[in-house]
Amino acid sequence: AEKLLIQSEKLSMLGEISAGIVHEIRNPLTSLKGFIQLMKLDDNRNPKYIKIMEDELERVQTIANDLLKYSKPQDEIYSEVNLVSVIDDVIFLLETELFKKQVQVEFTHELPSVFVNGSESQLKQVLLNLLKNALDASQENKKIFISVDTHNGNVLIKIKDQGYGIQKEEIEKMGTSFFTTKEKGTGLGLMVSYNIIKNHKGIVEVKSEVGIGTTFFITIPAFVK
Ligand code: ADP
Ligand code: MG
Repeated sequence: AEKLLIQSEKLSMLGEISAGIVHEIRNPLTSLKGFIQLMKLDDNRNPKYIKIMEDELERVQTIANDLLKYSKPQDEIYSEVNLVSVIDDVIFLLETELFKKQVQVEFTHELPSVFVNGSESQLKQVLLNLLKNALDASQENKKIFISVDTHNGNVLIKIKDQGYGIQKEEIEKMGTSFFTTKEKGTGLGLMVSYNIIKNHKGIVEVKSEVGIGTTFFITIPAFVK
């Protein structure tokens, strides 16, 4: 399968408006949910409908929470970030989930540390999103390979899974808001990740084969003193 270059032009304004929208919809959501709880206690005639209402509300709530999480200020100060320790941190954060699925992560890097100019918290967010997606796509006992290398003044990060893969038509939809194939997904993780990488003057490429697995390639200029 050939590598597809992802355009990360999509929806950069979303970050700006989402925080406002989220504040507007969060309160009514919370109160609606409270009333449903009360109805459940009082009136058991329509448990099926109540359950549906509750599930739908929960879904909107998840989206609202994700939007808020991702709409942090864009004007973060960039500094020297060591991607090796960022990736170590991210693997550690997902340790319990990895263990539950018996998925092993193999992280390799030729150099003890690799630096880019960027926002540590944003880059952590990207790697967490990508590793989480790789894990979601993986069946039990599969492996995920992560590597960081430097090449011609760039840093190349590879995240390779042995999961279910992505169809070619779907690769193009990835990173547009709310594109998800998961029951509980929001389709916001990649959109945010692509934007962050773009802000770091980087590119994202994806290679995937259905039933074989997916590799994400991120290229970011290396830090220069
Ligand atoms: P979410 O994880 O909430 O679905 P994302 O934006 O993180 O949202 O991902 C969007 C979609 O891209 C996923 O639902 C899935 O269909 C696809 N995808 C992303 N990463 C992978 C992967 N490693 N393997 C297979 N499909 C993937
Ligand atoms: Mg995701």
